Amino acid sequence: TMEYGPAPEADGEARAWLKRHGATFGHFISGKFAEPASGRHLATIEPATGKPLAKIAQGVAADVEAAVGAARSAQAPWAKLGGHGRARHLYALARMLQRHARLFAVLEAIDNGKPIRETRDLDVPLAARHFLYHAGWAQLQEREFADHVPVGVIGQIIPWNFPLLMLAWKIAPALAAGNTVVLKPAEFTSLTALLFAELAAEAGLPPGVLNVVTGDGATGALLVENPGVDKIAFTGSTEVGRLIRQSTAGSGKSLTLELGGKSPFVVFDDADIDGAVEGVVDAIWFNQGQVCCAGSRLLLQEGIAETFRKRLIRRMETLRVGSPLDKSIDMGAVVAPVQLERIKALVETGVKEGAEKYQASGAIPAEGCFYPPTLLWNVHPSSTVAIEEIFGPVLVAMTFRTPDEAVMLANNTRYGLAASVWSETIGLALDIAPKLQAGVIWVNATNLFDASVGFGGYRESGFGREGGREGLYEYLKPKAWSGRKARAKLPPLPEAATE
Ligand code: NAD
Repeated sequence: TMEYGPAPEADGEARAWLKRHGATFGHFISGKFAEPASGRHLATIEPATGKPLAKIAQGVAADVEAAVGAARSAQAPWAKLGGHGRARHLYALARMLQRHARLFAVLEAIDNGKPIRETRDLDVPLAARHFLYHAGWAQLQEREFADHVPVGVIGQIIPWNFPLLMLAWKIAPALAAGNTVVLKPAEFTSLTALLFAELAAEAGLPPGVLNVVTGDGATGALLVENPGVDKIAFTGSTEVGRLIRQSTAGSGKSLTLELGGKSPFVVFDDADIDGAVEGVVDAIWFNQGQVCCAGSRLLLQEGIAETFRKRLIRRMETLRVGSPLDKSIDMGAVVAPVQLERIKALVETGVKEGAEKYQASGAIPAEGCFYPPTLLWNVHPSSTVAIEEIFGPVLVAMTFRTPDEAVMLANNTRYGLAASVWSETIGLALDIAPKLQAGVIWVNATNLFDASVGFGGYRESGFGREGGREGLYEYLKPKAWSGRKARAKLPPLPEAATE
């Protein structure tokens, strides 16, 4: 049973917010909630209980048009506000998140199924950090980006694994650079985006600067196709990324894609084994493994493989799976029944294709979308589970003999988002790291994120960066201009140069 541990985090404020809205939401357009044009809603569940949670509007063309129209009207005044003016709003948004941190953390845990410990310590503070960081750039805009202008109206489509954090990664740089936004959150997890939009309006964000249109993939496709959108920024599956690239081709819209991954976690014989085991726990069981850069392929050098397996299995036994609102649990619920079924089917395939399966023996709740921490051992590199992104708490493991073989196996993927290398010989780690084809490499570490560091993929993991100065350029376009007045101001050439 799950009776141990501190009392669950009180969820009163989040439940009260849902109740105030009758658990039924419209879109958020031009600073207020708007009835959906179709009158249709989608039901969402609470992953940890399987019970109905809320109804979100299913966006149709008229909703998308209204939101894009609102964003268009708001864009010129927002750009004209200047970097300092926009920075004040971004600071206000960061403070708003900090002030309501608990409400956001609890609502996210309820809606997504992820542990409150993670939403409280990572999702919400890091979201706030993105607004603070980009407020800083907004303040410097006239000086640092003088030869750039905003792209215009941005359509942003985000996944369900980090709903609030992905919102922050997307809208903070877009707004800082002088764009306005229509955001389409994932259909499983739209609540924190709606709460954010509501509180942003209360915090004084001008109407139309941030609009939220909810709905499933069909709503996302309408946003992609809308001619009033100047750029699409998408985070989600490689499959949908491909569709979006096709549909924007030739439209003049700019595009960034943050897609899937199957990131290698490479451990050499001389690694600190206990440290690396903890790294694995974070790499694959953080957020139930629903992390685009999850270290989901464990590559072990042969000499330590057996020791590592034993210690990892022992550690797996100590992981607690349970209610996301229980502060003592390590893993919460998977986001939705459809994902749970997908994970189960892939694990079955892995076993059929020859893997040995290890699962923690601890109890998992009978109701709701729970899946235990799982290790697939002795996986062949050509096995389905070694190739496909599982996007769940399932680690696949294989061995290598030499550093060259490690590099070859690590790069044997169509993805290239992240990689993690573990060795106590720094020379070896620094020799291997640049040979790995991934946008982000961690040495003796994993899952380190910061607003100041660009994050993004190679190959089928997508293109474009989020975070850092490079992330801001994704929302600006260069503009060269010159004129007589500007030339007249140039100092006269020095004597020597005219001779
Ligand atoms: P998904 O692609 O199914 O959905 C993502 C979003 O796209 C949702 O909002 C969805 O409604 C929308 N969508 C679906 N079909 C669409 C269409 N035809 N046109 C426009 N929008 C459409 O992905 P998911 O299952 O929600 O998320 C999991 C995937 O996201 C994983 O593959 C994961 O690796 C990836 N991911 C990547 C990153 C990254 O930064 N690279 C971050 C998080 C998740």
